[in-house]
Amino acid sequence: MESMKPLIVANWKMNPQTLAEAKQLFNSVKKRLKNIKNVEIVICPPFVYIPTFQHSNPEPEPSVRYGASIPTIKLGAQNCFWENSGPFTGEISPLMLKNFGCQYVILGHSERERCFGETDEMTNKKVKAALSAKLKPILCIGETKKVKKKKEIFKILKKQLRAGLKGIENWKLEIENLIIAYEPVWAVGTGNPCQTKGAKISLFMIRKIISQLFNHPALSKKIKIIYGGSVNSKIARDYIKAGFDGLLIGGASLNPQEFIKIVKEISKAQ
Ligand code: PEP
Repeated sequence: MESMKPLIVANWKMNPQTLAEAKQLFNSVKKRLKNIKNVEIVICPPFVYIPTFQHSNPEPEPSVRYGASIPTIKLGAQNCFWENSGPFTGEISPLMLKNFGCQYVILGHSERERCFGETDEMTNKKVKAALSAKLKPILCIGETKKVKKKKEIFKILKKQLRAGLKGIENWKLEIENLIIAYEPVWAVGTGNPCQTKGAKISLFMIRKIISQLFNHPALSKKIKIIYGGSVNSKIARDYIKAGFDGLLIGGASLNPQEFIKIVKEISKAQ
């Protein structure tokens, strides 16, 4: 079943520099992973490359309806605004993403907070807008090094989840589309991944918090929780073994050989 497959999300961030390079990266990954059916693969390129990849990845629903195969690679974006149109210079709306074939959107990434001052409240508006547009939001949460040192991980995860998911407690249908990415800030882009033992404890905390938040254990179990932070092909499987439903891959997704290896490792473990 599609929803039970591990989810591997590639976050290309602000890379690569040219469309030619983006096509090469996308096509090499797509070609080498075309036979992988037991892993859900999502690529989140910069906005400007999305239209180029849209046509090679039509929305799955119509093709499934007509008996064609599901595209191997799905499309996602790295951010969106919370309104669908209007005077918001420089912004991209959830509906625009949907109309360009995106199914996922990464929201609340720590780089959005660090570089653009985004707050949990802004992320919350984005999560609601994405869910309303029938996109699957990937809500990023995670502690800083300082919080880790103070042993306040539970406190901060609770604060981030309460703020990020505020007001959607009764959105029963939409909640199933929600994905939480546990990304310790100190592990993102540092080459210093979170040890699986620590990540497993955070995973347990997140499950507990969301089950309390939605007061609906069965529904909360359907929410995928993935790990992100300096994952490479040598350690990728460890997080799935620890109970995560997938991975968010930044740096390693720009190296096609490494990204392909990660997906194959996860596929083999199924
Ligand atoms: C990310 O940007 O979400 C991420 C996990 O990056 P990296 O894999 O490079 O740590």
